[in-house]
Amino acid sequence: MGLLPALTDLVLPRTCAGCGLPGHVLCPACAVLLTVPHLAQPRRFPAGLPPTVAAGAYAGPLRPVVNAFKEHGRAELARPLGAALALAVAAVRAGVPGTGRPVVLVPVPATRAALAERGRDHVRELADRAAVELRAAGLDARARCLLRRRGRPRDSAGLTAAQRRANLAGTFVADPADDRPPAGALTVLVDDVVTTGATLCAAAEVLSAAVVTAGRPVLAAVLAATPRPSGRPSGPSRYRVRNVPAGHHDRLSGPGRSD
Ligand SMILES: [Zn+2]
Repeated sequence: MGLLPALTDLVLPRTCAGCGLPGHVLCPACAVLLTVPHLAQPRRFPAGLPPTVAAGAYAGPLRPVVNAFKEHGRAELARPLGAALALAVAAVRAGVPGTGRPVVLVPVPATRAALAERGRDHVRELADRAAVELRAAGLDARARCLLRRRGRPRDSAGLTAAQRRANLAGTFVADPADDRPPAGALTVLVDDVVTTGATLCAAAEVLSAAVVTAGRPVLAAVLAATPRPSGRPSGPSRYRVRNVPAGHHDRLSGPGRSD
């Protein structure tokens, strides 16, 4: 152990962000909960939701893990969470043809208020870290901030899915200042958590129109998806997406799927 990590441990004893177990940033039992990539299945699929793979379920110990990184500044979680996001990206990428194509990760931009409050862009940090992990695995991957926020949507707390979508309409614009993705790249929106899918829908719509030409679908990957209420299973046949080859969702149901 280097001097700096040793000193950090003296000042800030490590405890698992999920369960509080001493000695780990993220203990093995909690980390494994982020290794079950599965299709996110919001309770009501919004039209235009890109195929979205989550590394785990936003439930149990993963809720405090995500919130520790997002809201409480536990930046040391960037590495394990970036690796989890990379796993979700790899899973969603495996569902479409052309696996040799470069992968461009596009973080869903935070609101100005959220950036000011947190003092950092945690989704961009995740995207950067996931790109590092994917490159280490031999993929041509990079993170690019191709979207930015416009205007100020209302706080979405308490809104229905339809109200959230209306609230988000026009929220995102393509950022002309950033580098364009390489020709033929696979574009993957990335975010921390998906609940209704409204944010991903709005972001994918803008990205599809501005950056990605027809025939190259926008995909999405997140750390965690809010699980559907038990007893209300949703099959892939209920999934409604545009520009996705038939069979895409079946091909994602391979090893590692949690349900
Ligand atoms: Zn734990």
